[in-house]
Amino acid sequence: MRDRFTAVLIENGTGGQSVRVTDVPTDQLPEGDVTVRVASSTLNYKDALAITRKSPVVRSFPMVPGIDLAGTVEESTNPDFTPGDRVVLNGWGVGERHWGGLAEYARVKGDWLIPLEPAFTFDQAMAIGTAGYTAMLCVMALERHGITPDSGEVLVTGAAGGVGSIATAVLARLGYQVAAVTGRIDESDYLVNLGAGRVLPRSDFSEPGRPLAKEQWAGAIDVAGGQVLANVCASMQYRGVVAACGLAGGMDLPATVAPFILRGVTLAGIDSVMCPRNERREAWQRLARDLDPTILGPVTQSVALDACIPVADELIAGAVRGRVIVPISND
Ligand code: NDP
Repeated sequence: MRDRFTAVLIENGTGGQSVRVTDVPTDQLPEGDVTVRVASSTLNYKDALAITRKSPVVRSFPMVPGIDLAGTVEESTNPDFTPGDRVVLNGWGVGERHWGGLAEYARVKGDWLIPLEPAFTFDQAMAIGTAGYTAMLCVMALERHGITPDSGEVLVTGAAGGVGSIATAVLARLGYQVAAVTGRIDESDYLVNLGAGRVLPRSDFSEPGRPLAKEQWAGAIDVAGGQVLANVCASMQYRGVVAACGLAGGMDLPATVAPFILRGVTLAGIDSVMCPRNERREAWQRLARDLDPTILGPVTQSVALDACIPVADELIAGAVRGRVIVPISND
Protein backbone atom coordinates (compact mmCIF):
# COMPACT_ATOMS: atom_id res chain seq x y z
CA MET A 1 0.00 0.00 0.00
CA ARG A 2 1.25 3.50 -0.81
CA ASP A 3 2.26 6.00 1.94
CA ARG A 4 -0.23 8.60 0.75
CA PHE A 5 -3.50 8.59 -1.17
CA THR A 6 -5.73 11.16 -2.85
CA ALA A 7 -9.05 12.04 -1.23
CA VAL A 8 -11.71 14.71 -1.04
CA LEU A 9 -11.20 16.11 2.46
CA ILE A 10 -13.62 18.29 4.45
CA GLU A 11 -11.94 20.13 7.34
CA ASN A 12 -13.22 22.36 10.11
CA GLY A 13 -10.61 25.01 10.93
CA THR A 14 -10.62 28.35 12.70
CA GLY A 15 -11.95 30.00 9.51
CA GLY A 16 -14.85 27.53 9.28
CA GLN A 17 -15.31 24.45 7.12
CA SER A 18 -13.33 23.98 3.91
CA VAL A 19 -13.06 21.27 1.27
CA ARG A 20 -10.23 20.29 -1.08
CA VAL A 21 -8.86 17.35 -3.04
CA THR A 22 -5.54 16.52 -1.44
CA ASP A 23 -2.99 13.84 -0.58
CA VAL A 24 -3.53 12.23 2.83
CA PRO A 25 -1.00 10.05 4.71
CA THR A 26 -2.23 6.47 4.68
CA ASP A 27 -1.61 6.14 8.42
CA GLN A 28 -4.45 8.64 8.96
CA LEU A 29 -7.05 6.18 7.66
CA PRO A 30 -9.60 5.51 10.40
CA GLU A 31 -9.89 2.27 12.35
CA GLY A 32 -11.38 -0.73 10.60
CA ASP A 33 -10.58 -4.36 9.87
CA VAL A 34 -10.74 -4.12 6.07
CA THR A 35 -8.89 -1.70 3.78
CA VAL A 36 -10.43 -1.28 0.34
CA ARG A 37 -8.75 0.11 -2.75
CA VAL A 38 -11.67 2.14 -4.07
CA ALA A 39 -12.36 1.53 -7.76
CA SER A 40 -15.46 3.71 -8.04
CA SER A 41 -17.68 5.93 -5.93
CA THR A 42 -20.63 8.23 -6.57
CA LEU A 43 -21.87 11.73 -5.90
CA ASN A 44 -25.26 11.35 -4.20
CA TYR A 45 -27.35 14.33 -3.10
CA LYS A 46 -26.18 13.66 0.47
CA ASP A 47 -22.52 13.79 -0.64
CA ALA A 48 -23.15 17.08 -2.44
CA LEU A 49 -24.73 18.47 0.76
CA ALA A 50 -21.59 17.42 2.67
CA ILE A 51 -19.14 18.85 0.11
CA THR A 52 -21.00 22.17 -0.25
CA ARG A 53 -21.57 22.26 3.55
CA LYS A 54 -25.24 23.15 2.80
CA SER A 55 -26.49 20.80 5.51
CA PRO A 56 -24.82 19.28 8.60
CA VAL A 57 -24.33 15.85 7.01
CA VAL A 58 -20.77 15.54 8.32
CA ARG A 59 -20.62 14.61 12.02
CA SER A 60 -16.83 14.65 12.64
CA PHE A 61 -13.81 16.33 11.08
CA PRO A 62 -11.69 15.92 9.07
CA MET A 63 -14.02 13.82 6.90
CA VAL A 64 -13.75 12.07 3.56
CA PRO A 65 -17.27 12.20 2.04
CA GLY A 66 -18.82 9.45 -0.11
CA ILE A 67 -21.70 7.25 1.16
CA ASP A 68 -21.14 4.60 -1.54
CA LEU A 69 -18.02 2.76 -2.69
CA ALA A 70 -17.04 -0.28 -4.71
CA GLY A 71 -13.54 -1.70 -4.87
CA THR A 72 -11.09 -4.46 -4.09
CA VAL A 73 -9.98 -5.58 -0.63
CA GLU A 74 -6.34 -4.59 -0.14
CA GLU A 75 -5.80 -5.73 3.48
CA SER A 76 -8.07 -7.59 5.89
CA THR A 77 -8.05 -9.04 9.38
CA ASN A 78 -11.74 -9.93 9.01
CA PRO A 79 -12.26 -13.67 8.38
CA ASP A 80 -15.01 -12.94 5.83
CA PHE A 81 -12.74 -11.01 3.45
CA THR A 82 -9.37 -11.62 1.81
CA PRO A 83 -7.24 -9.39 -0.43
CA GLY A 84 -8.58 -9.34 -3.96
CA ASP A 85 -12.28 -9.70 -2.98
CA ARG A 86 -14.62 -7.35 -4.88
CA VAL A 87 -16.87 -5.52 -2.44
CA VAL A 88 -19.54 -2.82 -2.26
CA LEU A 89 -20.57 -0.54 0.62
CA ASN A 90 -23.67 1.67 0.97
CA GLY A 91 -24.44 3.84 3.97
CA TRP A 92 -23.73 2.79 7.59
CA GLY A 93 -22.77 6.43 8.28
CA VAL A 94 -19.76 6.19 5.95
CA GLY A 95 -19.03 9.66 4.54
CA GLU A 96 -20.89 11.16 7.53
CA ARG A 97 -19.24 9.78 10.69
CA HIS A 98 -16.58 7.51 9.17
CA TRP A 99 -14.30 8.30 6.20
CA GLY A 100 -16.08 7.41 2.96
CA GLY A 101 -15.63 6.48 -0.67
CA LEU A 102 -14.40 9.65 -2.41
CA ALA A 103 -10.78 8.57 -2.01
CA GLU A 104 -8.31 6.06 -3.38
CA TYR A 105 -8.52 4.02 -0.15
CA ALA A 106 -11.15 3.42 2.54
CA ARG A 107 -10.69 1.53 5.81
CA VAL A 108 -14.00 0.24 7.15
CA LYS A 109 -15.64 -2.43 9.29
CA GLY A 110 -15.94 -5.68 7.37
CA ASP A 111 -19.50 -5.96 8.71
CA TRP A 112 -20.43 -3.02 6.47
CA LEU A 113 -19.20 -4.68 3.28
CA ILE A 114 -20.99 -7.12 1.05
CA PRO A 115 -19.49 -9.07 -1.85
CA LEU A 116 -20.09 -7.35 -5.19
CA GLU A 117 -22.28 -9.46 -7.44
CA PRO A 118 -20.20 -10.78 -10.39
CA ALA A 119 -22.87 -9.42 -12.77
CA PHE A 120 -21.74 -5.86 -12.09
CA THR A 121 -18.62 -3.85 -12.89
CA PHE A 122 -17.50 -1.41 -10.20
CA ASP A 123 -18.88 1.50 -12.22
CA GLN A 124 -22.23 -0.23 -12.73
CA ALA A 125 -22.45 -0.90 -8.99
CA MET A 126 -21.95 2.80 -8.36
CA ALA A 127 -24.41 3.81 -11.10
CA ILE A 128 -26.91 1.80 -9.02
CA GLY A 129 -25.50 3.08 -5.70
CA THR A 130 -27.63 3.88 -2.68
CA ALA A 131 -30.45 5.07 -4.96
CA GLY A 132 -30.77 1.76 -6.81
CA TYR A 133 -30.27 -0.39 -3.76
CA THR A 134 -33.00 1.62 -1.98
CA ALA A 135 -35.31 1.13 -4.96
CA MET A 136 -34.81 -2.63 -4.63
CA LEU A 137 -35.51 -2.49 -0.87
CA CYS A 138 -38.83 -0.81 -1.78
CA VAL A 139 -39.69 -3.51 -4.33
CA MET A 140 -38.84 -6.21 -1.75
CA ALA A 141 -41.13 -4.48 0.79
CA LEU A 142 -44.06 -4.58 -1.67
CA GLU A 143 -43.41 -8.27 -2.28
CA ARG A 144 -43.10 -9.00 1.45
CA HIS A 145 -46.57 -7.54 1.91
CA GLY A 146 -48.03 -9.75 -0.81
CA ILE A 147 -48.10 -7.44 -3.84
CA THR A 148 -47.57 -9.36 -7.11
CA PRO A 149 -47.90 -8.33 -10.77
CA ASP A 150 -51.46 -9.72 -10.65
CA SER A 151 -52.43 -7.43 -7.76
CA GLY A 152 -52.78 -4.39 -10.02
CA GLU A 153 -50.95 -1.26 -11.11
CA VAL A 154 -47.99 0.06 -9.08
CA LEU A 155 -47.32 3.79 -8.81
CA VAL A 156 -43.76 5.22 -8.67
CA THR A 157 -43.30 8.88 -7.70
CA GLY A 158 -40.21 10.95 -8.55
CA ALA A 159 -39.84 8.47 -11.37
CA ALA A 160 -37.20 10.41 -13.31
CA GLY A 161 -34.90 10.57 -10.26
CA GLY A 162 -32.37 7.95 -9.15
CA VAL A 163 -34.61 5.81 -6.90
CA GLY A 164 -37.63 6.23 -9.18
CA SER A 165 -35.81 5.27 -12.39
CA ILE A 166 -34.41 2.03 -10.98
CA ALA A 167 -37.73 1.20 -9.27
CA THR A 168 -39.58 1.69 -12.56
CA ALA A 169 -37.11 -0.48 -14.48
CA VAL A 170 -37.10 -3.31 -11.90
CA LEU A 171 -40.89 -3.40 -11.47
CA ALA A 172 -41.43 -3.46 -15.25
CA ARG A 173 -38.92 -6.27 -15.68
CA LEU A 174 -40.73 -8.26 -12.96
CA GLY A 175 -43.97 -7.91 -14.93
CA TYR A 176 -45.71 -5.15 -12.96
CA GLN A 177 -47.81 -2.48 -14.69
CA VAL A 178 -46.07 0.76 -13.68
CA ALA A 179 -47.60 4.23 -13.55
CA ALA A 180 -44.71 6.72 -13.33
CA VAL A 181 -45.27 10.13 -11.72
CA THR A 182 -42.95 12.95 -12.73
CA GLY A 183 -42.69 16.71 -12.55
CA ARG A 184 -40.69 16.52 -15.80
CA ILE A 185 -43.32 15.38 -18.25
CA ASP A 186 -40.78 15.96 -21.06
CA GLU A 187 -39.00 12.87 -19.66
CA SER A 188 -42.00 10.69 -20.62
CA ASP A 189 -40.12 8.86 -23.40
CA TYR A 190 -37.29 8.10 -20.97
CA LEU A 191 -39.79 6.64 -18.47
CA VAL A 192 -41.62 4.60 -21.10
CA ASN A 193 -38.26 3.23 -22.26
CA LEU A 194 -37.57 2.17 -18.67
CA GLY A 195 -40.84 0.22 -18.74
CA ALA A 196 -43.53 2.60 -17.46
CA GLY A 197 -46.97 1.73 -18.88
CA ARG A 198 -48.15 5.30 -18.43
CA VAL A 199 -46.75 8.60 -17.19
CA LEU A 200 -48.71 10.94 -14.91
CA PRO A 201 -47.92 14.58 -14.09
CA ARG A 202 -46.85 15.30 -10.50
CA SER A 203 -49.51 18.04 -10.39
CA ASP A 204 -52.14 15.24 -10.15
CA PHE A 205 -50.77 14.51 -6.66
CA SER A 206 -49.44 17.78 -5.30
CA GLU A 207 -52.62 19.58 -4.17
CA PRO A 208 -54.53 18.79 -0.96
CA GLY A 209 -57.04 16.01 -1.70
CA ARG A 210 -59.81 14.03 -0.01
CA PRO A 211 -59.02 11.59 2.82
CA LEU A 212 -60.15 8.75 0.53
CA ALA A 213 -59.94 9.02 -3.25
CA LYS A 214 -60.73 6.58 -6.06
CA GLU A 215 -59.00 3.23 -5.40
CA GLN A 216 -56.30 2.95 -8.06
CA TRP A 217 -52.98 1.44 -6.99
CA ALA A 218 -52.15 -2.01 -5.64
CA GLY A 219 -48.69 -0.80 -4.65
CA ALA A 220 -46.68 2.41 -4.60
CA ILE A 221 -43.06 3.45 -4.19
CA ASP A 222 -42.84 7.02 -2.95
CA VAL A 223 -39.74 9.22 -2.87
CA ALA A 224 -41.66 12.46 -2.34
CA GLY A 225 -43.32 12.40 1.09
CA GLY A 226 -45.45 15.45 1.93
CA GLN A 227 -48.71 16.08 0.07
CA VAL A 228 -47.79 13.62 -2.68
CA LEU A 229 -47.50 10.73 -0.20
CA ALA A 230 -50.77 11.76 1.47
CA ASN A 231 -52.58 11.63 -1.89
CA VAL A 232 -50.92 8.34 -2.80
CA CYS A 233 -52.14 6.75 0.45
CA ALA A 234 -55.66 8.08 -0.21
CA SER A 235 -55.81 6.51 -3.67
CA MET A 236 -54.55 3.01 -2.78
CA GLN A 237 -56.73 -0.02 -3.47
CA TYR A 238 -58.12 -2.01 -0.57
CA ARG A 239 -55.12 -3.60 1.27
CA GLY A 240 -52.66 -1.75 -0.97
CA VAL A 241 -49.04 -1.24 0.11
CA VAL A 242 -46.95 1.95 -0.03
CA ALA A 243 -43.15 1.78 0.37
CA ALA A 244 -42.05 5.26 1.52
CA CYS A 245 -38.35 6.10 1.29
CA GLY A 246 -37.95 9.81 0.53
CA LEU A 247 -38.76 13.41 1.28
CA ALA A 248 -38.08 15.10 -2.08
CA GLY A 249 -41.43 16.90 -1.70
CA GLY A 250 -41.33 17.46 2.05
CA MET A 251 -40.83 15.97 5.48
CA ASP A 252 -44.45 16.40 6.59
CA LEU A 253 -47.34 14.00 5.97
CA PRO A 254 -50.65 15.91 5.79
CA ALA A 255 -52.77 12.73 5.72
CA THR A 256 -55.63 11.14 7.67
CA VAL A 257 -55.79 7.61 9.06
CA ALA A 258 -58.74 6.80 6.74
CA PRO A 259 -56.74 4.75 4.17
CA PHE A 260 -55.19 2.68 6.97
CA ILE A 261 -58.28 1.95 9.05
CA LEU A 262 -60.91 1.81 6.31
CA ARG A 263 -58.96 0.24 3.45
CA GLY A 264 -56.28 -1.69 5.34
CA VAL A 265 -53.52 0.16 3.51
CA THR A 266 -49.97 -0.59 4.70
CA LEU A 267 -47.34 2.16 4.87
CA ALA A 268 -43.93 0.45 4.83
CA GLY A 269 -40.97 2.64 5.81
CA ILE A 270 -37.65 2.07 4.00
CA ASP A 271 -34.23 2.97 5.43
CA SER A 272 -31.12 2.01 3.49
CA VAL A 273 -28.48 3.40 5.86
CA MET A 274 -28.78 0.96 8.77
CA CYS A 275 -30.59 -1.83 6.90
CA PRO A 276 -29.36 -5.25 8.15
CA ARG A 277 -26.64 -6.96 6.12
CA ASN A 278 -28.68 -10.01 5.03
CA GLU A 279 -31.35 -7.77 3.50
CA ARG A 280 -28.69 -5.67 1.72
CA ARG A 281 -27.14 -8.79 0.30
CA GLU A 282 -30.52 -9.98 -0.89
CA ALA A 283 -31.19 -6.56 -2.49
CA TRP A 284 -27.91 -6.70 -4.45
CA GLN A 285 -28.55 -10.29 -5.51
CA ARG A 286 -31.99 -9.26 -6.69
CA LEU A 287 -30.53 -6.26 -8.58
CA ALA A 288 -28.17 -8.65 -10.37
CA ARG A 289 -31.17 -10.76 -11.38
CA ASP A 290 -33.92 -8.21 -11.96
CA LEU A 291 -32.21 -5.08 -13.33
CA ASP A 292 -31.07 -4.83 -16.93
CA PRO A 293 -27.64 -3.10 -16.53
CA THR A 294 -27.87 -1.61 -20.04
CA ILE A 295 -30.38 0.94 -18.68
CA LEU A 296 -27.61 2.40 -16.50
CA GLY A 297 -25.45 3.82 -19.33
CA PRO A 298 -27.80 6.54 -20.57
CA VAL A 299 -28.54 7.85 -17.05
CA THR A 300 -24.94 7.93 -15.82
CA GLN A 301 -22.20 10.51 -16.18
CA SER A 302 -18.60 10.15 -14.95
CA VAL A 303 -16.74 12.80 -12.99
CA ALA A 304 -13.07 12.64 -11.98
CA LEU A 305 -12.23 12.74 -8.26
CA ASP A 306 -10.62 16.17 -8.61
CA ALA A 307 -13.79 17.55 -10.28
CA CYS A 308 -16.16 16.48 -7.51
CA ILE A 309 -16.23 19.83 -5.74
CA PRO A 310 -17.63 21.98 -8.60
CA VAL A 311 -20.00 19.18 -9.65
CA ALA A 312 -21.36 19.02 -6.09
CA ASP A 313 -22.38 22.68 -6.48
CA GLU A 314 -24.13 21.89 -9.78
CA LEU A 315 -25.92 18.92 -8.20
CA ILE A 316 -27.28 21.07 -5.37
CA ALA A 317 -28.40 23.64 -7.96
CA GLY A 318 -30.42 20.89 -9.72
CA ALA A 319 -28.29 21.18 -12.86
CA VAL A 320 -27.24 17.51 -13.01
CA ARG A 321 -29.40 14.81 -14.63
CA GLY A 322 -29.29 11.16 -13.59
CA ARG A 323 -26.56 9.43 -11.61
CA VAL A 324 -22.99 10.74 -11.17
CA ILE A 325 -20.27 8.13 -10.78
CA VAL A 326 -16.70 8.87 -9.75
CA PRO A 327 -14.34 6.26 -11.24
CA ILE A 328 -11.18 6.27 -9.11
CA SER A 329 -8.90 3.38 -10.08
CA ASN A 330 -9.07 0.55 -12.57
CA ASP A 331 -6.26 -1.70 -11.30
P1 NDP B 1 -33.10 12.39 -7.03
O1 NDP B 1 -32.75 13.81 -6.76
O2 NDP B 1 -32.36 11.63 -8.07
O3 NDP B 1 -34.66 12.27 -7.42
C1 NDP B 1 -35.68 12.84 -6.66
C2 NDP B 1 -36.88 13.02 -7.57
O4 NDP B 1 -37.98 13.46 -6.79
C3 NDP B 1 -36.69 14.10 -8.61
O5 NDP B 1 -36.02 13.62 -9.74
C4 NDP B 1 -38.13 14.44 -8.92
O6 NDP B 1 -38.61 13.46 -9.80
C5 NDP B 1 -38.84 14.22 -7.59
N1 NDP B 1 -39.11 15.48 -6.91
C6 NDP B 1 -38.30 16.55 -6.80
N2 NDP B 1 -38.90 17.54 -6.12
C7 NDP B 1 -40.13 17.07 -5.81
C8 NDP B 1 -41.25 17.64 -5.14
N3 NDP B 1 -41.20 18.89 -4.63
N4 NDP B 1 -42.35 16.90 -5.00
C9 NDP B 1 -42.41 15.65 -5.49
N5 NDP B 1 -41.39 15.05 -6.16
C10 NDP B 1 -40.28 15.78 -6.30
O7 NDP B 1 -33.04 11.67 -5.63
P2 NDP B 1 -33.03 10.11 -5.32
O8 NDP B 1 -33.92 9.42 -6.27
O9 NDP B 1 -31.65 9.63 -5.15
O10 NDP B 1 -33.70 10.12 -3.86
C11 NDP B 1 -35.11 10.35 -3.75
C12 NDP B 1 -35.48 10.59 -2.30
O11 NDP B 1 -35.23 9.41 -1.57
C13 NDP B 1 -34.71 11.70 -1.63
O12 NDP B 1 -35.59 12.39 -0.76
C14 NDP B 1 -33.65 10.96 -0.84
O13 NDP B 1 -33.26 11.71 0.28
C15 NDP B 1 -34.41 9.72 -0.45
N6 NDP B 1 -33.56 8.57 -0.21
C16 NDP B 1 -33.81 7.85 0.92
C17 NDP B 1 -33.11 6.74 1.20
C18 NDP B 1 -33.46 5.95 2.39
O14 NDP B 1 -32.62 5.17 2.86
N7 NDP B 1 -34.66 6.10 2.92
C19 NDP B 1 -31.98 6.31 0.34
C20 NDP B 1 -31.84 7.08 -0.88
C21 NDP B 1 -32.61 8.19 -1.11
P3 NDP B 1 -39.35 13.90 -11.16
O15 NDP B 1 -38.40 14.81 -11.85
O16 NDP B 1 -39.61 12.62 -11.86
O17 NDP B 1 -40.59 14.60 -10.68
